[in-house]
Amino acid sequence: MILKFQAETPVINGFNRSCIYDLPRNTYDFLPLAVVNKLYSFENMNRDTIIDQLDANEKLWLNYLIEKEYCFFIPQEFKDRFPKINFKWTNPSLISNTIIDISQTTSSFDFKILEELNCKHLLIRIENYDNLEVLHSLLKEKISATTFKSIDLHIRKKPGVSYLSFKRRIKKEIKQITDINFYNKKQYNIPSFFSPFFLININTFSESLRFNSYYNRKLYIDKDGNIKNGIEGEYIFSNLTKNIDLIEIVQSNRYKNIWNINKDKIDICKDCEFRYMCIDNRIPRKRNNSTYYFEEECLYNPYISKWKGDKDYKSLEEIGVISNKSFFSIDLKKVEKINTGIWINN
Ligand code: SF4
Repeated sequence: MILKFQAETPVINGFNRSCIYDLPRNTYDFLPLAVVNKLYSFENMNRDTIIDQLDANEKLWLNYLIEKEYCFFIPQEFKDRFPKINFKWTNPSLISNTIIDISQTTSSFDFKILEELNCKHLLIRIENYDNLEVLHSLLKEKISATTFKSIDLHIRKKPGVSYLSFKRRIKKEIKQITDINFYNKKQYNIPSFFSPFFLININTFSESLRFNSYYNRKLYIDKDGNIKNGIEGEYIFSNLTKNIDLIEIVQSNRYKNIWNINKDKIDICKDCEFRYMCIDNRIPRKRNNSTYYFEEECLYNPYISKWKGDKDYKSLEEIGVISNKSFFSIDLKKVEKINTGIWINN
């Protein structure tokens, strides 16, 4: 019998520990780096040979992995029946998701252009409108004949107006609408700290291996008709009021540049075990030497495996890691000493 690792549960090494991505079950587990490096080097080896080389603690880890179905023993003759997964990510859409803020300027926008880009998912945000009848007519005219897979509406509430029958009617008449949210105050404030959001599935994992999973193939059109990479985007690529070719804009290298900046290219995140499940709306900044960094610090410190608020949490600066506009540096001795204090002597 030989050892095989489950192809759908890849292991990702961080600076301080490893993480198993359980893609089919949308969850994850942690493992010590040393255990991972040793056990995974034993793939395709005979059971007895492996057991002979493990100490008591490593045997416990192996049993744990088998219990969780992350690995298993199979007869030698079935060795080639468990191929590795090719995680190459492709998508037929030039733009997969669009957010558009409807206003006087953008209300004449032709949504068919998005269909030409093969955009499948749309979020329409509406801040100002005369009344629900006008809004209803506009939405019917604009999107009832489109082929989007999902359309979410975010509509600002007006005081004293009842939205119940509008909601029912619009969902019944426009099948593409998947969700309608009404809000009172202006939303979408960008917080001053960064709190990551995790999504564990094969699509996010595969996309993140190569692309920036937040900005890749996204489009944002603001209420003034400005075309950006995302709500957080600072750069305006063009404006709907100009005689523009939207397809040409989103196909340009300048527009697509951010799509290719995945977390392997960004300091701090490239050392984090969560980097292929983490959806991050921060804009990566480029240094003069072409390396990337983020301005806001994440709530998670991957060098000590601690979240802000956890016992023994320390900021990057406190552990001797500096990542700023000018450079990245890490005081490895200091980090090691702190990790020994937190994880070994505690
Ligand atoms: S350090 Fe980076 S990859 Fe890790 S959780 Fe924070 S933002 Fe995500």
